[in-house]
Amino acid sequence: MKYISTRNNAKPVSVSQAILNGIAPDGGLYVPETFPEFSIEDFDGAKNLPEIADILLSKFFNGDDLAQRLLPICQSAFDFEAPLRQVTDGLQVLELFHGPTAAFKDFGARFLSKCIGQIPLSHKKTILVATSGDTGGAVGCAFEQNPGAKVVILFPKGRVSPLQQQQLTCWGKNVQALEVNGDFDDCQRLVKQAFADDKMCLSYNLSSANSINIARLLPQMSYYAASSLTYFRHHKKPANFIIPTGNMGNGMAALWARICGLPIGRIHFACNANQTLFEFFVDGKFKPRHSIATIANAMDVGNPSNFERFAALAPDQTRHIDCKSFTDQQIRDTIKTDYHKFGQIWCPHTACAAQSWRELPTDFAKEDWMIVATAHPYKFSEVIEPIIDTAIAPPDCLAQIMERQTKSTPLEPELPALADILSAQTF
Ligand SMILES: *Cc1c(COP(=O)(O)O)cnc(C)c1O
Repeated sequence: MKYISTRNNAKPVSVSQAILNGIAPDGGLYVPETFPEFSIEDFDGAKNLPEIADILLSKFFNGDDLAQRLLPICQSAFDFEAPLRQVTDGLQVLELFHGPTAAFKDFGARFLSKCIGQIPLSHKKTILVATSGDTGGAVGCAFEQNPGAKVVILFPKGRVSPLQQQQLTCWGKNVQALEVNGDFDDCQRLVKQAFADDKMCLSYNLSSANSINIARLLPQMSYYAASSLTYFRHHKKPANFIIPTGNMGNGMAALWARICGLPIGRIHFACNANQTLFEFFVDGKFKPRHSIATIANAMDVGNPSNFERFAALAPDQTRHIDCKSFTDQQIRDTIKTDYHKFGQIWCPHTACAAQSWRELPTDFAKEDWMIVATAHPYKFSEVIEPIIDTAIAPPDCLAQIMERQTKSTPLEPELPALADILSAQTF
């Protein structure tokens, strides 16, 4: 399997090379040149998430040195559960927050780190990662045990929750956190500019840990495969998903899994008040803009980076999808209502999906749905606790993170400032 650029102006590369490059040399994003096809029976006998992931991803790693090591990579990356729980009649929740930093980003970040750990490198990689909150923590955590790489995290000053900030700034010597005087789009722009700068790419052997990196996206297909297979085996019907969406990495993974033949029906994206994607679904025009700050901050994205992969799909691959956008007030109302109705505490991102389910048109509402829970509510307790008037208990992993020492460096949102920091790196 080769990977090609969405801009069609770079030579096809192996999956290992696509992982190391992060972004294609022509500025596009890597996508598989074809999508492998699977039948339900291909997964018969696979007992757990790592085994399902191994079967699914083998075809995406076909011909690459990493293919032989895929099962152990999946076993060590996915050593936590992705349980499906019934919320009420017709509604299940797929909980993706049982990893070490309590957000779904752990799946992709850990898989990426394990892959990079297995690729022979002539000199140390520097992984750049822009984060709106959860990615940086997951990547820092995943790479702390991977001394073959340095990680530089760019996060927007004052735009992340206190717990997220703690999670971004508490990792070992090979993980440096930069507090950018700007918003998430500034962070993302700086990372893209660094990649577009040949000299910087070469001097620092740069790669990306954002969901533009194919090794973030591919593993996320695994939990859609596992949960849709479970649902299909019980109900003989494809599973419908509602996915909290920012950069569309999680949403693209669901779409790719469906294209490969997994039993997935409708896919709905649930966004916060950042309406770029929502408006695209209304009038077909993609108008990227600056993000606005919301209480679902990991989705504060005005220029969803994976849109380019979405636009590269054929029309028949993008049918049966929809997108909705929700205000902070709607998010707050949903958190309150569902806590009282179901005893369920949603994080603000997951609440967008829950509200989207509530607003389904009658025809769709008759079907069963799965909403995807992207973070543990404790990560956003300062938002949620006043709404539900109840204290949220921290999961063990977060309690441990809270005890760590933190360190970060301020950064103006300009490329020369980032270059200065990279050249002064002391890891
Ligand atoms: C990153 C994140 C999202 C958005 O995921 P994308 O892949 O960027 O669409 C949603 N919820 C939480 C909690 C996140 O951390």
